[in-house]
Amino acid sequence: MKFKRKSRSIALLLILVVSVLNINLLNFSNKTQAENIYPSSIILFIGDGMGLEQIKFGSLVEFGEEGFSSILNFPFNTTVSTTNIDGTKTDSAAAATAISTGIKTQNGRIATNWDGEMELTTILEIAQMNGYATGLVATCHLTHATPAAFAAHEGSRGDYLNIAEDFSQADVDVFLGGGSGLEYIGNYIDNFTAQGYEYVTEEAELDLITKTPVLGLFTEVSFPKLQTIPEDSTIPTLSEMTIKAIELLNATSQPFFLMIEGSQIDWAGHANDQVYLAHQIIEFEKAVKYAKTLAEQVSDLQVLVTADHETGGLSIENYSFKTEIPLETDSYKVKQEKRTNRSQEITVDWGTGGHTNTKVILAGYGPFTEEILTAKHHIDTFSIMRQAIDGQSEPIGEGYYKGHLPIYAWILVLFSPMIISVSLAFITVKIIRRKKTTK
Ligand SMILES: [Mg+2]
Ligand SMILES: [Zn+2]
Repeated sequence: MKFKRKSRSIALLLILVVSVLNINLLNFSNKTQAENIYPSSIILFIGDGMGLEQIKFGSLVEFGEEGFSSILNFPFNTTVSTTNIDGTKTDSAAAATAISTGIKTQNGRIATNWDGEMELTTILEIAQMNGYATGLVATCHLTHATPAAFAAHEGSRGDYLNIAEDFSQADVDVFLGGGSGLEYIGNYIDNFTAQGYEYVTEEAELDLITKTPVLGLFTEVSFPKLQTIPEDSTIPTLSEMTIKAIELLNATSQPFFLMIEGSQIDWAGHANDQVYLAHQIIEFEKAVKYAKTLAEQVSDLQVLVTADHETGGLSIENYSFKTEIPLETDSYKVKQEKRTNRSQEITVDWGTGGHTNTKVILAGYGPFTEEILTAKHHIDTFSIMRQAIDGQSEPIGEGYYKGHLPIYAWILVLFSPMIISVSLAFITVKIIRRKKTTK
């Protein structure tokens, strides 16, 4: 792998010290921006439905007013537009496609262009072409739109079986999430094992895995709500899967691309459920913090955090906490209870049960991440990632209308004056002829 051995040991030691002593290393890290070297490994975090207010909400619950979420503490950050090719509110499929391919598309498309006919090359596939190991981690069933848009190509996000079949031919080294049911990846287990995948369904089995490829499906469909999962569950948490995925990919001695989705932040937003939201966002932040700490210790790792769109139109009204901040020394159960209580001690407004069109965070650290400062849209996230792979920044493939209207709309716009004048001339001629014949 690309991490230099020495810096890797230092990183691991530091992470150990941080986790044991709960020191906030990030407060006094002064490492200057890494050189823009490629190939560099990439860890991309997508908080589905994670607006800025959601991040702030999670931070208040977990760290209080004085504390901070590591998501909000990257050296480079901005907000980017999420609109789809039609210039309207995006869904997770079009947004993930824009991030994964650098090309805007219509809602519902999985790494295909606006009409769903043309397959678009994803950043995961570009990474593979350059000899990278790859991984996808989520807490939904993996065939759901966000992970799907990195390793499948379908005209419709609901084609779960076709997406699963695409996955079984995608050569992804680490798949961790849900979806062992027969309507999902579960239908294709034989395809995976025939290719040499280790298939695991419980956290304890995952812990024993030491090499790739691995397919870990821990639930039939998506993971249950985090606050309902007991500590001794067979389902790993997002941060546990993140740490394991990084460990396995790092052991391949290739550079790697890894996408990690906080899938259910979106579902908490759709449900306007602030307890659900708090637990999801706190777990997501924990995974981000691990990767961010790693990026600060090695020179060839790019870590990015973004969201596909905001969900729920959340705004924090006010808060008065009676419950204290969860402590590292608290038991798992006590921590979870404190999070639930504190999330209910915040008064919020939800504007909608759907998605909104507000801008979302793009933050990061490592090679090429200073370009975050000029990023405007999801498609720029693709460019930043591609540069870390091969130094180039353009999407691959034809038929992309990067921020423009689909081609049929352009034809209508360009030819409408002609169509109008021809019809007017035709009508005028008709009227003149009729007048002549009536004379
Ligand atoms: Mg999603
Ligand atoms: Zn949604």
